[in-house]
Amino acid sequence: MTYPFGAVVGMDDMRLALLLNAVSPAIGGVLVRGEKGTAKSTTVRALAAVLPPVAVVPGCRFACDPAAPDPACPDGPHEPAAPAQTRPARLVELPVGASEDRVVGSLDLERALTEGVKAFEPGLLAAAHRGVLYVDEVNLLHDHLVDLLLDAAALGTAYVEREGVSVRHAARFLLVGTMNPEEGELRPQLLDRFGLTVEVAAPRDPAVRAEVVRRRFAYDADPPGFAAAWAGEESSLASRIADARALLPRVVLSDEALRQVTAVCAAFDVDGLRADLVTARTAMAHAAWCGRDDVTEDDVRVAARLALPHRRRRNPFDAPGLDDDTLDRALEDSRPEDGPDDDPHPPDGGPGDGGTPPPPRGDDAGPGPGESRHHDDDGSPGSGEEEAPGAPARERSAAAPSDPFRARRLEVPGIGTGAAGRRSKARAERGRVVGSVRPSGPVTRLHLVDTVLAAAPHQTARGRTGPGLRIAREDLRQATLEGREGNLVLFVVDASGSMGSRARMGAVKGAVLSLLLDAYQRRDKVGLVTFRGGDAELALPPTWSVEAAAARLRELPTGGRTPLAAGLLRAAEVLRVEHVRDPRRRPLLVVVTDGRATAARGTDALGAAHAAAQRLATAGTAAVVVDCESGPVRLGLAGVLGAHLGAHTLRLEELAAESLAATVRSVREAA
Ligand SMILES: [Zn+2]
Repeated sequence: MTYPFGAVVGMDDMRLALLLNAVSPAIGGVLVRGEKGTAKSTTVRALAAVLPPVAVVPGCRFACDPAAPDPACPDGPHEPAAPAQTRPARLVELPVGASEDRVVGSLDLERALTEGVKAFEPGLLAAAHRGVLYVDEVNLLHDHLVDLLLDAAALGTAYVEREGVSVRHAARFLLVGTMNPEEGELRPQLLDRFGLTVEVAAPRDPAVRAEVVRRRFAYDADPPGFAAAWAGEESSLASRIADARALLPRVVLSDEALRQVTAVCAAFDVDGLRADLVTARTAMAHAAWCGRDDVTEDDVRVAARLALPHRRRRNPFDAPGLDDDTLDRALEDSRPEDGPDDDPHPPDGGPGDGGTPPPPRGDDAGPGPGESRHHDDDGSPGSGEEEAPGAPARERSAAAPSDPFRARRLEVPGIGTGAAGRRSKARAERGRVVGSVRPSGPVTRLHLVDTVLAAAPHQTARGRTGPGLRIAREDLRQATLEGREGNLVLFVVDASGSMGSRARMGAVKGAVLSLLLDAYQRRDKVGLVTFRGGDAELALPPTWSVEAAAARLRELPTGGRTPLAAGLLRAAEVLRVEHVRDPRRRPLLVVVTDGRATAARGTDALGAAHAAAQRLATAGTAAVVVDCESGPVRLGLAGVLGAHLGAHTLRLEELAAESLAATVRSVREAA
């Protein structure tokens, strides 16, 4: 007995997003983000009970509608006047570890090849047709499966093809994903493809929290009794959904409302026109949900709040949500002028038309009463090289990172067997075909050419006379695939005084931040070791939270001596422990340094660093050195360190993907 949808409290945005999708599945699904213990899953699972029941053709495994059966239905063709059977709408859960066959269905290749029959076993997409498909921890689902799901959701069709044998069937469902952002983000390209997103958090109001607990106790004590008490609420929600669905085709989006939708989308600087479409559909669904056939400003406001936060151009470290002031201003600006005075100025331009002129904006105006005389201290990066003698406090403060850029892919050489990701080559369940083997279990990926080659020598012995090969079970060959894995990217960052000016340290931080962004998109684990002054510090133990790494990096103070050897030894220790914890995840060490090392008088700091580097190389650790040396005189010490590490050395400026493309171009032009 599931928890009643009507009894969920304190999740207003999430409930509304789900209900609007139930009214208008064209909105394109809901992504719910929030920490553990916020009843996200309970709320999603409760939705099915308030969805209108569906009429199906009895015996059809693809849930055909008797009024309009799928002409391509693999169980069809159905009789034109097939009898109808009504059943509740289904909620199908897709487990994160599901195989592709489980999701899209499987074609029995062995039977197809050896017996010549087309045998198709429907998957979860077929089961979810005309219902809800729910993926908990959607951020942990393999990218390939997410792509597949979103494609099916967008087209309303599932398509399976194996070696030329194909099946297609209708798959229209309301896609709902939930995730805990602390466990890793969804690729930005995929975020955009969910119609709506909501952030959920435990309610702050103690009275609401108490009500949540009270209802949970009542439910746990007597689930059937609790459900009976809420049955009235459930059925009124169900009939409101049905009414809104019936009203939706008559809802009109006036030019004025459309202008508001586009104004809001423009104000939030969203990519493409998808946002406008989704916002418009959501506003129309909200109007229908409220029993109206015209779209009001309130509908647009609600729609923008649900449809736009994840579509803004921003990086994943920015705060979630939508700024209310910007939303209000965009709605206000797009309102039709109602007064006779066609004033082009926004209302905050000045106190009145005939009043005093605005104060001059020039430098001669002098600082106002609330302004600091030192406002040029914070902004301009040009003044940052030399510290003013009167400002010793700034010496210790952290340099702000420069803007992140798209980093080129650094990878671990060789072929791993680690968890699926997007960095280094690995034996995988999907990817490029690189060869074939005799299958140890059922054939999931047939290597057709090798199968034919295996069968060819036996044709005469098997008595083949006409066209068509005679294929036996022992001829079948399973394809071996090469895909990509995620790695542990451990940064070792020099934060000492040798790294030069604040501007330079800002560029170094910007580069590491860019590599962190890249790691987050490639599903890597990240860690951060820094060294400065007397010792090295594990600033961030290996984690999935790239946000935490970015925060540590921003705060990182700089200055002092350069204990490079200590940094490398600390990194070696971190890698040793991580190898015990997760032996299949291969590490990549990224050493960000100018290669210099200093220590107390009488010790050979550079020698110690090179010895530490050699120990890492002997242990087979894959590494990259990012050379941060700047200035007119170059010592090239980072390159020497790279040689000891057996690592490739890149200059800081070569880290950007664009610079790689530029290098390739210039090499081509020279040739
Ligand atoms: Zn059918």
